[in-house]
Amino acid sequence: MKKSVSIMLLMSLLFTLFASVGHAASVPPKLFLEGKQLMSDVDPKIENGSTLVPLAILSEGLGYGVEWEPVMKKVTVKNDRTVIELIIGEAMVKVNDVIMDIAAKPQLMNQRTMVPVRAVGELLGLEFEWKAAEREVHMFRIQPETPVDPEPTEPELPLPIGYITGVSMDEQSVITILHTDVQKPGKPLVLDNPKRLAFDFKNTTFEPFFNGENRVEVADNPLLSGYRYAQFQLNPLTARLVINIGDDTGYVVSESDHAIHIALMPTAELPTDPEPPVDPEPPVTTPPTGNNGAKFTVVLDAGHGAKDPGAYSKSMNRWEKEFNLNAALKLKAELEKDKRINVLMTRSDDTFIELADRIKFAQDHKADLFISIHANSFDKTSVNGSETYYYRDNSKAFADFLHPYVLAGTGLNNRYVKKAAFKVIKETTMPAVLIEAGYLSNDGDAKALFSDSVQSKFGAEVAKGIKAYLDLK
Ligand SMILES: [Zn+2]
Repeated sequence: MKKSVSIMLLMSLLFTLFASVGHAASVPPKLFLEGKQLMSDVDPKIENGSTLVPLAILSEGLGYGVEWEPVMKKVTVKNDRTVIELIIGEAMVKVNDVIMDIAAKPQLMNQRTMVPVRAVGELLGLEFEWKAAEREVHMFRIQPETPVDPEPTEPELPLPIGYITGVSMDEQSVITILHTDVQKPGKPLVLDNPKRLAFDFKNTTFEPFFNGENRVEVADNPLLSGYRYAQFQLNPLTARLVINIGDDTGYVVSESDHAIHIALMPTAELPTDPEPPVDPEPPVTTPPTGNNGAKFTVVLDAGHGAKDPGAYSKSMNRWEKEFNLNAALKLKAELEKDKRINVLMTRSDDTFIELADRIKFAQDHKADLFISIHANSFDKTSVNGSETYYYRDNSKAFADFLHPYVLAGTGLNNRYVKKAAFKVIKETTMPAVLIEAGYLSNDGDAKALFSDSVQSKFGAEVAKGIKAYLDLK
């Protein structure tokens, strides 16, 4: 079922000759770890600004464990702190049980799993440097890794709480899941290309247990083209139902005795909005007290810098680091109009700062709030909008509170508040958010984010939000 990729196989790959190719634009980028080139039988490739590399190289070169589950097309990479799960063809990654979008989809090429190196590598604790002229990706370990047990013991499987005993659909496009003690699923993941809904059932397995996937095709129904269900993962035990929906399909989840019903219907017929744009919980209004006396200390973190340019906008021919800094400077100027706020910047020019140093800076200054400013990128250029990320529980209220101000500032589409384990918001301790102001891979977003007026509006609105959160009137 699970198969650990053998070190011997990978060692042999490392010594396989690296195919050389012709013209500059088509030359595959080269990969270096601590200055030493990593070789593979499949060349890294650049797709929409993301470098895809064979997972085996990255993980085994670093000594991480790799598992491959062919049924779920799932790759698991882990060290003693981080478990990363990727599914071929899905632009998302699960990091220690937190699901987040990634810029490019992992894919299979010549039997190799190709993953977006930056998205995954940073999660595994790597720093990146892209040498554009040489087309070289340089990776550096942030800190020395503790050796990984070469024979990891099989994790003990949790006992299921509930069993799914049957899945069926009626003529009204209602999918019914019969079960014994299964919890109603939470909000589904909405996945694109093709459009689908993924419902996860926690602590659930199938009765009788089956290890494959059940697929049901549905013909001549504008609401869906089919659905499939399978054991998504074993630990934590999760069963998943994926429904391939139409462009205009909404859903309502209801329950009856030992059954969960997912009724599909045109969005126009939905009784209520299935995905409320803001969290239904009221924002927490208790302000933090200043850690440094009367003044509040706010640390602004303009993402990337210098040799680390971040995401790239093809249409504007500009880099993310520039937007991050300009937006942060505008925000600083707005905040400094209030003398009760002390604004500190992790960088105020085009400098490279290690993530660990950004964290240390905020910690050393006992910041009351930490705001990291970024812009996103995605292989599908139609994806657009602003996101506010948090990771720790003490940051959720701040993220929920600030997000409407972020939207007002950028004027872009709402991509909601999300949880993700970005290092700077994970390893700091004060309420901390990471704003992905928009998608530089989307021409509309890029044009807005690089305009002076939007940057000014962003600064003004986000400052307003921070002040309101701190209860400074
Ligand atoms: Zn960024």
